Amino acid sequence: MRAVVTGGAGFLGSHLCSELLARDYEVVALDNFVTGNPGNVAHLSDDARFKLVRCDVTDYVHVPGPVDLVLHFASPASPIDYLELPIQTLKVGSIGTWHALGLAKDKGARFLSASTSEVYGDPQVHPQPETYWGHVNPVGPRGVYDEAKRFGEALTMAYRNAHGVDTALVRIFNTYGPRMRPRDGRAIPAFITQALRGEPITVAGDGSQTRSVCYVDDLVRGILALADSGLPGPMNVGNPRELSILQLAETIRDLVGSRSEIVFIPRPTDDPTVRQPDITFAREALGWEPEIGLDEGLALTVAYFRTHPDVVAAS
Ligand code: UDP
Repeated sequence: MRAVVTGGAGFLGSHLCSELLARDYEVVALDNFVTGNPGNVAHLSDDARFKLVRCDVTDYVHVPGPVDLVLHFASPASPIDYLELPIQTLKVGSIGTWHALGLAKDKGARFLSASTSEVYGDPQVHPQPETYWGHVNPVGPRGVYDEAKRFGEALTMAYRNAHGVDTALVRIFNTYGPRMRPRDGRAIPAFITQALRGEPITVAGDGSQTRSVCYVDDLVRGILALADSGLPGPMNVGNPRELSILQLAETIRDLVGSRSEIVFIPRPTDDPTVRQPDITFAREALGWEPEIGLDEGLALTVAYFRTHPDVVAAS
C-alpha cells in the first residue's frame, strides 16, 4: 500500500507518516514548509519506504507511481498562522483540496481530507454532532480558515458524487502533542512554553471559554480507522473531555511545577465560546474512543517541549 500525505511535515501529517510506516505503507509526504518543518520527519529519513518532497499543493501535485490513499492535511491550522497567511489558507483549502482530489481520482485512491471543528464556528448546539451545520462568520478573521475548510468539504462531496472518488471527511477537534511549534499561538504550546520558562501564562478573556483536547496518538488512530472503514463521513474525531481555558492553564502550570502567574489578555475576535465533539458516530461506526487522559497526554507533550531548542534557548 502506498499513501500520499499532504502537509506531511506538519504536526498531524508527521504523526500520520510515522504511523502509516508502522503499518507497512510506503509514504510520500508533500509539504511546502510554510508551517511544516522537515525536522518533524527527520526520524523517518533513513526509511527507504519514506519520501519527503517539497511541493506546494496549490501549484500542482504530481506523484509518479501507484497510490492507494491520499491524506490531505496541508494547511496552516493555528489562528495566528492563518491570520498571517489568509490567502494561502484559502488557497490550500480550495485549490489545494482540488489538486489532492484530482490526484486521488487519477490514481483510483481513497481520499481523506482534514476538516475541522471550525466548520461549526461559534456553535449554537452543544456538544456538536456531525448533523449540525455550524455558525461561522465568513467575513471575520477566522473566516479564511473556516470557509476554506467548508468549501473543501463541499468539493470533496462533489468529487464523490460526480466523479465517484472514494472520499472521507474527518472533522478534527483541538489536538495536541509533540511536534507542535512552541510559538504556533495555540493555547497548549503557549501555556507549556510559558510555564517552563516561568513567564506569565496568557489566558484570553476570563478563561471561561471551553475546548475539548485530544492527544495526537488518539487522533491518528481515529483518522486511520476512518480511512480503513470505507465510510465517507463527515466524522468528528476528538476527545469529548471539555475544560475551560483557565482550567487548562492551571492544569499545565501544576503539571510543570511552575510558579508562573496567570495573566488575562484580550479575547481574539470570533473566538468560539464552547467546543465539544459528539463522538457517537465514531464510537458506533469504528469502535473508536480516545484512550489517553489529559494528564498523561500533557506529560508527554511537556517532555517534548522541555528539550525543544526554542524553549530551552531563551530560558
Ligand atoms: N488562548 C489563550 N491564550 C493563548 C492562546 C490561546 O487563552 O496564549 C485561548 C484562545 O483564545 C481560545 C483557546 O485558548 O479561547 C484555544 O485556542 P487555540 O488557539 O489553542 O485553538 P482554537 O481557538 O482554534 O480552538
